[in-house]
Amino acid sequence: MYDLVIIGAAAAGPAAAIYAIRRGLNVIIVSKDTGGEVALSGEVENWPSVIHTTGVELAKQFTDHIKHYNVPLDEGYEVTSISQEGNYHSVHAKDYAGKEKIYQTKAVIVASGIHPRELNAIHEKELKGRGITYCTVCDGPLFKGKVTATIGAGNSAVESALMMGGIAQKVYVLTKYGPDENNNGFPKAENILVKKMMATPTIEVVHYANTTEMVGDTKLTGIKYTDSKTGEEKELAVDGAMVHIGVIPNSDFIDCAQKDEGKQIKVDRLCNTSCKGIFAAGDVTDIPYKQISIAVGMGATAALSAIDYINHFEE
Ligand SMILES: Cc1cc2nc3c(=O)[nH]c(=O)nc-3n(C[C@H](O)[C@H](O)[C@H](O)COP(=O)(O)OP(=O)(O)OC[C@H]3O[C@@H](n4cnc5c(N)ncnc54)[C@H](O)[C@@H]3O)c2cc1C
Repeated sequence: MYDLVIIGAAAAGPAAAIYAIRRGLNVIIVSKDTGGEVALSGEVENWPSVIHTTGVELAKQFTDHIKHYNVPLDEGYEVTSISQEGNYHSVHAKDYAGKEKIYQTKAVIVASGIHPRELNAIHEKELKGRGITYCTVCDGPLFKGKVTATIGAGNSAVESALMMGGIAQKVYVLTKYGPDENNNGFPKAENILVKKMMATPTIEVVHYANTTEMVGDTKLTGIKYTDSKTGEEKELAVDGAMVHIGVIPNSDFIDCAQKDEGKQIKVDRLCNTSCKGIFAAGDVTDIPYKQISIAVGMGATAALSAIDYINHFEE
């Protein structure tokens, strides 16, 4: 029987664990890996107190910190469901061989993050991190003065294009919609942002573009797409591709807590979910800003809320 099970060992999870263990809780982290999206963050230059680091290095430091406190960690376990019995929760997980393990606990912190929706374009996997990014806020500045393409038709794609419009020499924006669709081919984006984008001289919108292939051997050199109006195959020479076609929260294993239409777990400002004894922190929640410092702050908040909950726990 645990006081607290934390799901995820990237940013929010370790932050929560540090607070929980220092308060003497019987805590364990259950996670598929250590590092999560932090380790995939490339160059990190917005973690306060460190001017420049890499995602890999920062993720290692987070892991070293939980090891320093001997926080029990079951790495290589994927949580598949959480069930309730009275005020207790059972966290069901399985390892890579499919062997099941069940953790009984008073409280749970879900810090399982998100994963970006991929295009499923040819060579996308091989060129990920070699010109292809799913986070313009993080990696956009690396393409200063270069030619980039943002792929997507929602707000995050338009915001990505606007950001790159001020950094890159030239920015293509590939939307699968035509110009007659709502909002000039960006039906899910805010009109005011689209207008701003259309008025930016460095930005060129490409309509009816269905991205099919990422081109390049060791790094991205171009993008191939099909023009769905004419059926033509076309290619653009680019140094960077920002893919913004949505993210998928890692929240399928939890039924009890309310989620929004995008599967993000709804939390209040103290990281409570709608499910008693279950807290959530970081990118898996409905917080609109997906950043390491925010995930860490939410992890600490979730831990303090869980500690308060456990202190008042009724059998
Ligand atoms: C390319 C890229 C660059 C970025 N650059 C920056 C940057 O420069 N600065 C910045 O602040 N942010 C950056 N970010 C965002 C940052 O990575 C995230 O905000 C941060 O990692 C969120 O941390 P998290 O703990 O909420 O979740 P995640 O990092 O997503 O970690 C989730 C954890 O949960 C585990 N997990 C998931 N599902 C399960 C399950 N079912 N069972 C058990 N374990 C599970 C995973 O293994 C992982 O350990 C970047 C993101 C990307 C993709």
